Amino acid sequence: MTFEALGVIKPILKSLDDLGYENPTPIQEQSIPILLKHRDLLGCAQTGTGKTAAFSIPIIQHLVKKAQHHEGKRKVKALIVTPTRELAIQIGESFTTYGKYTSIRNTVIFGGVKQGKQTQSLQKGVDVLIATPGRLLDLMGQGFITLKHIEYFVLDEADQMLDMGFIHDIKKLLVRLPEKRQSLFFSATMPKSIVDLSNKILGNPQKVTIQPEQTTAEKVKQVVYIVNKKKKIDLLIHLLQHEIDSEVLVFSRTKHGANKIVKLLDRADIKSAAIHGNKSQSARQKALASFKSGETKVLIATDIAARGIDISLLSYVINFDLPNVPETYVHRIGRTGRAGESGLAISFCDGEGKEYLRGIEKLIQTKIKVIEDHPFPFDTEVEKLVKTDKQKQQERFKNRGKRRPSNRKNSNKQSRKKGNNTQGNRRSAR
Ligand code: AMP
Repeated sequence: MTFEALGVIKPILKSLDDLGYENPTPIQEQSIPILLKHRDLLGCAQTGTGKTAAFSIPIIQHLVKKAQHHEGKRKVKALIVTPTRELAIQIGESFTTYGKYTSIRNTVIFGGVKQGKQTQSLQKGVDVLIATPGRLLDLMGQGFITLKHIEYFVLDEADQMLDMGFIHDIKKLLVRLPEKRQSLFFSATMPKSIVDLSNKILGNPQKVTIQPEQTTAEKVKQVVYIVNKKKKIDLLIHLLQHEIDSEVLVFSRTKHGANKIVKLLDRADIKSAAIHGNKSQSARQKALASFKSGETKVLIATDIAARGIDISLLSYVINFDLPNVPETYVHRIGRTGRAGESGLAISFCDGEGKEYLRGIEKLIQTKIKVIEDHPFPFDTEVEKLVKTDKQKQQERFKNRGKRRPSNRKNSNKQSRKKGNNTQGNRRSAR
């Protein structure tokens, strides 16, 4: 199957050719014809399957056909709502790339940065708006955006939206959308809450299901190094100096851990950068751009910051810490081996990680190959001296308990405050 046979128009074919896309991915092959016929779509698929092109190509194509008739300032005709800033930026980049030989204009809006530049580009007029929910509602409230002219609405990563507590924002949006529109709804999983939400948005949709989880896990070569917790950084440096010859994405379970890795790599003269929720938006964008350009070879990320980031042709992913949720492992290794490329996922497993490793192997139904031969073999006695994260947490809790009586009033107040702000915390964690 070719893009041409799917009915994609010449200017878009040209940009796909520039990118070296030879054939559509399964989600593109199934979705593009449906969307070109103006049908609603319910897509069970996640990032990494080629879903962005699956929805942006038909939208650009529709808009190109209409653009011939448009007069005056451009009105926002397509709205894509997505949970994270990183994802929003990437979708914006995709629209720009696929629409390179067309006159379709897009802009991206997200929170965490000043609104000036975003409102300026909105005022110039755009056809496609890619937005995270909070900033979108904010700018709508200020009168910078109207949804009156929306003809195409895409809700992306719906399950993640709900996880992040965006349901109320989405409901507020829905009532502002014109009834007559084409709607697309994407989610990696389809629990009942998601199906219910999709029913509110879509009218008699066509369904497309792509299961990348197994295909990703099958495509990516996976190995595990059993190593003492304290020696993981030495092993990382060893691999970066002797075995790995291209860009690598390293996953850390915590933000603090990610910063520490950057510091220790720096001491070994290895340039790296970290992206996580405590970094400013511009610092994260800078780190990602430097990594994409090949200037920084090592990017350290926490799971939330990494979700959705798309780095093509990434050959290596390292799990510096194994995740305690097995599905997260599958998401992480899905960052490599995309769209037909093969990749290598390397995991470091310390004493605490062994339990997590068992859970992961159960989920992917594969025994991950153990690399025995490395300079930092596991020593059970040494590992016994290391406190696990759980133990550290228990100790912290005990100590807090000791301090509490003299401070009870204040600390209660504080925790109440924190509790009130869970939504804010959740959002700022991204
Ligand atoms: P997505 O799921 O939209 O995040 O896309 C995942 C990756 O696959 C991105 O790097 C795209 O540039 C790439 N990609 C999408 N469609 C194709 C295609 N038909 N051929 C080759 N690469 C593609």
